Amino acid sequence: MIKIPFNIPPCTGREEHFIAEAIASRKICGDGQFTKKCNAWIEERTGTAKALLTTSCTHATEMAALLADIRPGDEVIMPSYTFVSTADAFVLRGAVPVFVDIRPDTMNIDETLIEDAITAKTKAIVPVHYAGVACEMDTILDIAARHGLLVIEDAAQGVMSSYKGRALGAIGDFGCFSFHETKNYSMGEGGALLIRDPAHIEAAEIIREKGTNRSKFFRGQIDKYTWVNFGSSYLPSELNAAYLWAQLEVADTIYDDRMRSWNCYYDHLLRLAREGRIELPVIPAGCVHNAHMFYIKAKDLDERTALIAFLKKREIGSVFHYIPLHSAPAGRKFGRFHGDDRYTTRESERLLRLPMYYGLKEQEIDAVCEAIEEFYLE
Ligand SMILES: *Cc1c(COP(=O)(O)O)cnc(C)c1O
Repeated sequence: MIKIPFNIPPCTGREEHFIAEAIASRKICGDGQFTKKCNAWIEERTGTAKALLTTSCTHATEMAALLADIRPGDEVIMPSYTFVSTADAFVLRGAVPVFVDIRPDTMNIDETLIEDAITAKTKAIVPVHYAGVACEMDTILDIAARHGLLVIEDAAQGVMSSYKGRALGAIGDFGCFSFHETKNYSMGEGGALLIRDPAHIEAAEIIREKGTNRSKFFRGQIDKYTWVNFGSSYLPSELNAAYLWAQLEVADTIYDDRMRSWNCYYDHLLRLAREGRIELPVIPAGCVHNAHMFYIKAKDLDERTALIAFLKKREIGSVFHYIPLHSAPAGRKFGRFHGDDRYTTRESERLLRLPMYYGLKEQEIDAVCEAIEEFYLE
């Protein structure tokens, strides 16, 4: 029996070489050559005006909340089916996360329910592109424009995905990427903030550099740097950026490898889906995803629990995902759910993520799928 873990952090083999290069250059703090390469890569690939590598997607979202001038009492609309960071970044500013239900097909925020959740206090909409599959951005941008709201994309899982030809993270006012070890491209812990409007760039650089204008100083635009506003330390070390660069330089190879795995799962499991035993992910027209995740949906919570145990006995790592934020203690304390929870809880209880990582072998995917077939058919 082969042991198949749920995740293996991406590694292309060039990481040590680039990290050694960073060490030899005697520049290991932030914003050295590797950070610049990563920023330029994101700008080129997404078309965003500015990309800034950060210490995490959580921190990129905190920066977006600061740049959006989110204040105590403001409301921010988001799905409840998401990672805690989506809400945390705004709760830290004193805002109230207002959760709306998701669509059962993509597990993304239901764009048709957003408008009803808007109040005089609403400041922003935060779409989360679950599994790297885009939210219905045309509708969301239209609602935001009509109500004067900002759009902050949680594109943590959306690197290399697009919506109607536009890169995720570069569609809203701000976009947030994650390079955590569980994501398609990684630096251990890390992320990036994408800024669409160049008018925000200088403020973002200041917030990221402890409230100083050090970025301007390093570019030679001023002859000494000073404390000019509030800020924090959101820039990662060059060592982490060097690790990430080893993947971004071959981003298409990683993308193709994951997509092969994703399609392999899909083709293999189609039979069970046609028989109505499980459900497979849905990719709406106009969305190009990045094979971040392969999930299936079981009938209900009990069946999923049994399937996880069944796969575990065969040394296959499968995991469920988010516990909806509105049912968590902090979610109840800081946020509220607007409207009915028709799908958030029910669908989250059925969803099961299968092993997915760069380098996953076809033979391993076959073993996972055969085990699932065995569970359902015998
Ligand atoms: C991973 C993830 C985050 C957090 O990313 P970090 O880089 O670990 O801070 C936020 N939102 C979503 C949807 C994620 O998947």
